[in-house]
Amino acid sequence: MTVDDSFEYSLRPTTLNQYIGQEKVKENLQIFIEAAKMRNETLDHVLLYGPPGLGKTTLSTIIANEMGVNVRTTSGPAIERQGDLAAILTALEPGDVLFIDEIHRLHRSVEEVLYPAMEDFCLDIVIGQGETARSLRIDLPPFTLIGATTRAGYLSAPLRDRFGVMSRLEYYTESELTLIVKRTAEIFSTEIEESAAIEIATRSRGTPRIANRLLRRVRDFAQVKGNGKITLKLAVESLERLQVDRLGLDQIDHKIITGIITKFKGGPVGLDTIASTIGEESQTIEDVYEPYLLQIGFLQRTPRGRVVTEQAYRHFNMEVPE
Ligand code: ADP
Repeated sequence: MTVDDSFEYSLRPTTLNQYIGQEKVKENLQIFIEAAKMRNETLDHVLLYGPPGLGKTTLSTIIANEMGVNVRTTSGPAIERQGDLAAILTALEPGDVLFIDEIHRLHRSVEEVLYPAMEDFCLDIVIGQGETARSLRIDLPPFTLIGATTRAGYLSAPLRDRFGVMSRLEYYTESELTLIVKRTAEIFSTEIEESAAIEIATRSRGTPRIANRLLRRVRDFAQVKGNGKITLKLAVESLERLQVDRLGLDQIDHKIITGIITKFKGGPVGLDTIASTIGEESQTIEDVYEPYLLQIGFLQRTPRGRVVTEQAYRHFNMEVPE
């Protein structure tokens, strides 16, 4: 665990009430949780999807908390064989939450073990080989699977269909992020001006993880260059130094947009070509950078590739072509 990871852990809200924003998702979950508790049943399986850093992991621990059960955390790529998943499933206590991050990256053979586990709480395991092979059925304790993914579209249909609840997390508004920044500052016992919190929020690209990260860096500047208090002036100066512009775009966003403009006349251009031009992985661009650039209307997806919009030309002070 890095220092940043452990910070992130300590900043996680633990109840639905402390979880800021995502009102619709929260409201629905509240009802499903209450209903499951009234019937003394486990909560139906939940799929949470949306860009990284929006609070999927946090929400899964909150759901377990609200249900009064334990959560076991793993991720798609970490489960290599069927046996790995069987070991995890058989170790669960009745009612537990199993959280699988990046569930779209589960191996297909592992996924197949998950189907009967999700549907009937049992495992079908084949033992032996050839003529002596036979199938063994093992009962599992009832559990709730919470899957998280940045790409719901990459999930196979049989897996997707087995989730009773599907919730899409949205980018946060500026006022929600301001609340998150203030809450984190309070946990750090750092004094922050309202306007400074708003400034950090506007540059956080709708993402709590980024808001918390920027706050930590600005707090460093406040400690060394100031008297510890985060003022608006100090926040603006620090964010400029961190090369985060007033829309929250960083060096990589700049490279993506200006790369398409200067090398491909603004597009259309394919994702892989963009990736190799700027030396980033296509998957990182697609998962981390592109969703926000699409959201703020700087990029458009067309059947022939990505196109930079007029708005983006203006933001980067580049001449809009005829
Ligand atoms: P994801 O799993 O979607 O990548 P995380 O759950 O790890 O995102 O959230 C990243 C960080 O953002 C967490 O440390 C948490 O402190 C903070 N965070 C996320 N959502 C919220 C929220 N709704 N309210 C307050 N803090 C949040």
